Amino acid sequence: MTTPLHAQLCWASQHAGLFENGVGRQFESGWAHSYKMANKKNIVKIIKVLKEKSEVSMLGNFSRNKPFYILISTVLSARNKDEMTIIATKKLFSKYKTPKQIAQAPLRKLEPLIKQSGFYKTKAKRIKEISKILLEKYKGKVPSDFDKLISLPGVGRKTAGCVVVYAFNKPAIPVDTHVHRVSNRLGWVKTKTPEQTEQELMKIIPRKYWLDVNEVLVIHGQTVCKPITPLCNQCKITNYCRYYKNLIKKKKY
Ligand code: SF4
Repeated sequence: MTTPLHAQLCWASQHAGLFENGVGRQFESGWAHSYKMANKKNIVKIIKVLKEKSEVSMLGNFSRNKPFYILISTVLSARNKDEMTIIATKKLFSKYKTPKQIAQAPLRKLEPLIKQSGFYKTKAKRIKEISKILLEKYKGKVPSDFDKLISLPGVGRKTAGCVVVYAFNKPAIPVDTHVHRVSNRLGWVKTKTPEQTEQELMKIIPRKYWLDVNEVLVIHGQTVCKPITPLCNQCKITNYCRYYKNLIKKKKY
């Protein structure tokens, strides 16, 4: 259920003092939003605040599995909801666990297992091709190198970045729709595509925090900073948000 904009603003005006460090101070005319600009120091602060959340993303949960599991689940997650990806991945790996098994499996047996992943016919072909290449070129192992990963069929920058981060714990900034939207709303970047966002984020976020970026922004985007109507009234980082600053300005708070 979404919360209408005016209701969010009313809530914000009534509860401004509850926000971290008090997001606003009361003036005769209402609440003032004390915006803190996006710079390296504040971005690190936000990452730390968002890390306090207890939720874990789908890939965060999958990270205990082998790199092959992370790679295949990320390929299955393309244009799909996490709940469906989880079902498809679990079904697939309950029958076929290794690159060799998937490479040798007939498509007609793979397809029904990953039906919930959407575009399952194309994805079945992809995971079979990927498995064959892993066997032929990498001795059945998933490479941890970003460039080798993006050379695999159907593996783009986001998927490669997710494998690097979640399977190998190596720094990268995978940018999906949540990371792209939230970092633009916060004012960290002003970009049109996830690729541009990735490049800009790598410039402004210290490398030691790259591992956290996808996880915290995905969770924030799924739970609070939702696509159509962000739940600003439940957000702990309004002080640091350009979108919220503009929202307040428009309503003359
Ligand atoms: S204040 Fe609103 S728009 Fe800004 S990050 Fe929080 S939920 Fe998203």
